[in-house]
Amino acid sequence: MKKIKQAGVIGAGIMGGGIASLLASAGIETLLLDIVPPNLEDDEKKDPVARNRFAINVLKAVQKSKPPLLTHPKAAGLIQVGNIEDDLKKLAHCDWMVEVVVEDLDVKQKLFKRIQKVWRPGTIVSSNTSGIPLAQISEGLKPEFCQHFLGTHFFNPVRYMTLLELIPGPDTAPEILTDMADFGETVLGKGIVWGKDTPNFVANRIGVQGMVQAMRTMVEEGVTIPEVDTLFGPGLGRPKTAMFKTGDLVGIDTLVHVANNTYNLIPADEARESFKVPPFVLKMAEQKLLGNKTGAGFYKKEFDAKGKPVKLAINPETLAYEPFEPPRFDCIDGAKAAKTLPEKMKAIVYGEDRGAKFVWKVLSANLIYSANRIPEIADTIVEIDNAMRWGFNFILGPFETWDAIGVQTGVDKMVADGMEVPEAITTMLKNGCDSFYSIQEGKKLFYDFASQTYQPVPEREGVLTLAAVKAKGQTAQSCDSADLVDLGDGVFCLEFKTKMNILNEEVIDFIKSTLPFVEENGVGLVIGNQAGGVPGAFSAGADLKFMGRYAMQGQWDKVAAFVEKAQNNIMAARYSHVPIVAAPFGLTFGGGCEICLGAADRIVAHSELYMGLVEVGVGLLPAAGGCLYLWRKLTGSIPEGVDVVDLAPWFLRAFKTIAMGKVSGSAADACRLGFLGPNDRIVANRMHLISEAKKEVLGLADGYRPITKQPVRVIGAAAQGMVNAELHNMQSGGYVSEYDAFIGRKVARVISGGQVRSGAEIDEGVILAEERKAFIELWKQEKTWDRIEHMLKTGRRLRN
Ligand code: NAD
Repeated sequence: MKKIKQAGVIGAGIMGGGIASLLASAGIETLLLDIVPPNLEDDEKKDPVARNRFAINVLKAVQKSKPPLLTHPKAAGLIQVGNIEDDLKKLAHCDWMVEVVVEDLDVKQKLFKRIQKVWRPGTIVSSNTSGIPLAQISEGLKPEFCQHFLGTHFFNPVRYMTLLELIPGPDTAPEILTDMADFGETVLGKGIVWGKDTPNFVANRIGVQGMVQAMRTMVEEGVTIPEVDTLFGPGLGRPKTAMFKTGDLVGIDTLVHVANNTYNLIPADEARESFKVPPFVLKMAEQKLLGNKTGAGFYKKEFDAKGKPVKLAINPETLAYEPFEPPRFDCIDGAKAAKTLPEKMKAIVYGEDRGAKFVWKVLSANLIYSANRIPEIADTIVEIDNAMRWGFNFILGPFETWDAIGVQTGVDKMVADGMEVPEAITTMLKNGCDSFYSIQEGKKLFYDFASQTYQPVPEREGVLTLAAVKAKGQTAQSCDSADLVDLGDGVFCLEFKTKMNILNEEVIDFIKSTLPFVEENGVGLVIGNQAGGVPGAFSAGADLKFMGRYAMQGQWDKVAAFVEKAQNNIMAARYSHVPIVAAPFGLTFGGGCEICLGAADRIVAHSELYMGLVEVGVGLLPAAGGCLYLWRKLTGSIPEGVDVVDLAPWFLRAFKTIAMGKVSGSAADACRLGFLGPNDRIVANRMHLISEAKKEVLGLADGYRPITKQPVRVIGAAAQGMVNAELHNMQSGGYVSEYDAFIGRKVARVISGGQVRSGAEIDEGVILAEERKAFIELWKQEKTWDRIEHMLKTGRRLRN
């Protein structure tokens, strides 16, 4: 793979800022250029700050962006700014340069002619255009340059959207394509979809067809905007932002631009009219009702007389904003009652009410449209499904959706409705293939329209899918809440499979019960899972409802027993005779974090890691060993012989992290908080996490020596004074409430080791016992109950 150490980003707008942030976050030195602002005053014309103003402003904006575009503030230091008049020649040092300027063919063509002059053979060059044919952009450029030129289509916000569409230009050399795919996948962590040089490529072509079709049908059928969003949300495996909230996020001008652009470029498309944006949306764009960026779009937030926020939706007929009640549909109730996603989808798609009929009309048209786009926009259904999952955050792409609702059933209904079913699909059914995907001998296959046969879904190096391993019958042990999966080479993976990967009693039992099996039959263990969704959850923490039931009945001994079991079983893993590597990603809260810190020898984390000991948010403290493990992890790197007085900064760090329930904003940030240490690793691609963790296990397994129990050096009685002063500051700064401070004192007592002499070395059991004691005391507090109740009801933290 070609090493990309330096990159150039030309065009410092929304996407240029996002791409530069992504590169810098991946440790790549990045040069970010924009134009010299027109109309500079005479005294500014020679001032580099004025000349670089556009790029400087974007760099400032990305540093303040919410959600953050950089994974770590220090990454900004890798971005150098400049302008295309003074700094173009600096691009000669880059291994890759990407053009991200305004969507205008003439501007792009002129720019590439200039870039070509400073370009060095070997440097990859790409355009981030969303709609302009690459063949037109590269027209008239040198053949050697064109061999290095391709389309790299990122999605906004660049850090958070997995999709990267790669589009070969007419002359791109094959090794340039593989190099870019490897780099995009491994270093930038993206999911690669191979598109073709067709209008708006893959995800936007399919996604925008669905959105505009929904707008048009909505007007025809008198369905309201909030109704559409209720119907096209999680019940169909789509994000809560559904259609119109997504439109407000993306920007209505962008949406109109993409739809119009596609419409103009596809004169022969059988569904061209479905890209024609309805007049009310065009009027909104004219009136600058563009969505979140202008404060009003399909929705708008206002405040009532009491200052309470009220959500309003636009009335397409009058363009007036009106309040609305949460819509209710029988089909959605049916979906809520259903257990699996395919059942939920069927309840909505084949329901009887007007909502279901609307969904069917829009969705069926989009399924047919997707099928008809092969091989025009992509060669296989796999590319289209991946594009919609990674670019629109759907849980299932169009063909996976069609499988979920039944291909034959869907086709029958289409025929009954007089719709034209694509020939490829009637042929597929005639050939006896009744699903787009199938598992045969543990291999995932897709139906290939070209050969009219099932073909293996291409496997990318480093991508290890637990579902595929399990499909091969490699589940070694199983219970309702977790599986032990044989990854081969003696490595097993313990996978949680509860909702949000909550740690219930069964998971806790399973952790311990699988250990003898792994010790007997293998060389090591990965603790990881591949829960879907964005950002996904390695684990949302311990099962509060379970403990709540006992607590409600005053059965404190049962709560204490559960906590003690969690401590013991994590310890059993810690001291086991095989290496354990945890592979967290996304939400890794409370007990999930404790498992990583306590049970694992090492952590291999996804770069998008939101890790925290967040128990204070529900009025508790970490009691499955979390206080002990964080303290130990932080102090583990302190060299022998450091005086105990000097432990104070470490103590305050551990204390604040737990007492404020701090959550890392990324894996890089988790290093700052001390959740990840020097031996842990960060992996950019979530799909590579399990295989990287497996590699780590294999590395450790050779000559593995089990961890031996060591005494813990603590700060003891010296803690109280320090913490009182700290809590006073935190409270007066408004960072913690009085009740937080109450919990904070208990946290301090636990991690300090209690009333022992400063610098004492104590048995870890002492800290664990303190954790349990404080935990039960906190459960008995009314304010803790209020916090737990609030969390279970709203999913949010109560500050009382
Ligand atoms: P933008 O308007 O935010 O930024 C464009 C930037 O290009 C501006 O800063 C402008 O000053 C600069 N510019 C103009 N002419 C230039 C030149 N000759 N040299 C250097 N800089 C120049 O636009 P954007 O949304 O960031 O889009 C940029 C490109 O990315 C477009 O091709 C767009 O189609 C594509 N794209 C956009 C999105 C999106 O969601 N916004 C998504 C994918 C792709």
